[in-house]
Amino acid sequence: MNLLEKSELIETNEITASENLEQYIQEIEKKNSSLNVYLETDFDKARETAENIDSRIKKGEKVGRLAGLVIGVKSNINVEDFHITAASKTLENYLGSYNATVINRIQDEGGVIVGMTNMDEFAAGSSTETSYFGHTQNPAAEGRIPGGSSGGSAAAIAAGLCDLSIGSDTGGSIRNPASHCGVMGFKPTYGAVSRQGLLDLAMSLDQIGPFASDASGIAMMLDTIAGFDERECTTIDWNVPDFTELTGEGAQDSLRGMKLGVVKQFLEVSDDSIVDIIQGSIDKMEEAGAEVVELSFDHIDLCLPTYYLINYVEFFSATRKYDGRKYGYKIEDVCGEEVLRRIYIGSYISQKEYSGKYYKKALQARSLIRKEITRLLEGVDAIVGPTVPKLPHKLGTDLEPMEMYAYDVLTVIANLAGIPAASIKAGEVNGIPVGLQFQAKPLEDAKIMQLMAAFEGLQL
Ligand code: GLN
Repeated sequence: MNLLEKSELIETNEITASENLEQYIQEIEKKNSSLNVYLETDFDKARETAENIDSRIKKGEKVGRLAGLVIGVKSNINVEDFHITAASKTLENYLGSYNATVINRIQDEGGVIVGMTNMDEFAAGSSTETSYFGHTQNPAAEGRIPGGSSGGSAAAIAAGLCDLSIGSDTGGSIRNPASHCGVMGFKPTYGAVSRQGLLDLAMSLDQIGPFASDASGIAMMLDTIAGFDERECTTIDWNVPDFTELTGEGAQDSLRGMKLGVVKQFLEVSDDSIVDIIQGSIDKMEEAGAEVVELSFDHIDLCLPTYYLINYVEFFSATRKYDGRKYGYKIEDVCGEEVLRRIYIGSYISQKEYSGKYYKKALQARSLIRKEITRLLEGVDAIVGPTVPKLPHKLGTDLEPMEMYAYDVLTVIANLAGIPAASIKAGEVNGIPVGLQFQAKPLEDAKIMQLMAAFEGLQL
């Protein structure tokens, strides 16, 4: 049963929203203390919402498309009355006083928010190990990191602790943990989903998006959260497609005639065991009718420095409000090492005398990267390749910052260029999940949805 079918059973009262919720509550009670997926839950409030939905269904009232589905939310997205800590001591006592736009939309569609998920501190990381509240376990690969920064949201899906979750992706934070946990994660086109109510990591790169265990779940969440928001100036007034419609039976047929690009350099930087699996997936799509062409991307070496320089500068500026006067503690007094590193370097390169040297160069490199990926996408429907170039490390391994950043080389391009991208499980290496990434032109999110549904269809 996929998520769409489950939602239909709830709508026709064959499963009640309350039964669905209770089953998750039981699982959370059993597993959360060892996995550390949720930082906070509110079962009472969730029960109230579920009961309300059930009574509306019994009365024959129309309910929303997420009615009765249980949702986990990354701890950097504002939800009223939950602690919005961004997994930092800085905001340990900060209680959300309003709902982000995406949360209002989820609640309007009947989604039952059960709790806030763990993450890297201020979303600055790729492993969920920098959380002030401790690391999250990868439910799909015991003893390893779940990826990050939205590790809790991905692990929540992998461990069966909610139907759907949302996270944020600035340089890969949805796709990376989706890949490591063997679930689906989708980063929409920049501006396709409102960021209002998200705590910024780097505002020119951040996007909110869904995690799910199947394509229908991703589609239902996108149908809920995508679209113009008058309260947020970076959203685009675009024609939102019907994502759910694209995921039905026979989705594989859409591969016929699709032109997929495989970028040589994306494979070259990836471990051999990962490349083998990705190659196998590409072959499968080719057999199903896709045309596959090889492409060459010129600026792979520029991607990480460009991304991190921009990230440091924008993050530094975003953190100036955490001076201890209005929100919690002064960030520099209590934050972890990685956050401090970004603040220091960000502050240094934001100074007038250095900005020309670093920041302006990074902006120039960003436009080069954008041009290059746009050029490649012009000739194809989508680019396919690995999501992450290496396997998740064992928890507790000591990594240098550059080794941690190296996880992001294949995901940051989509953020720098503002294009949509997603990850879907392609296979396993010694039981460790490996994700396949799709990237497409701006606002062609529907194409990625189609490809995910098609690829899922091939695997079923
Ligand atoms: N790992 C990247 C970073 O540390 C991406 C984080 C994200 O997408 N939030 O910045």
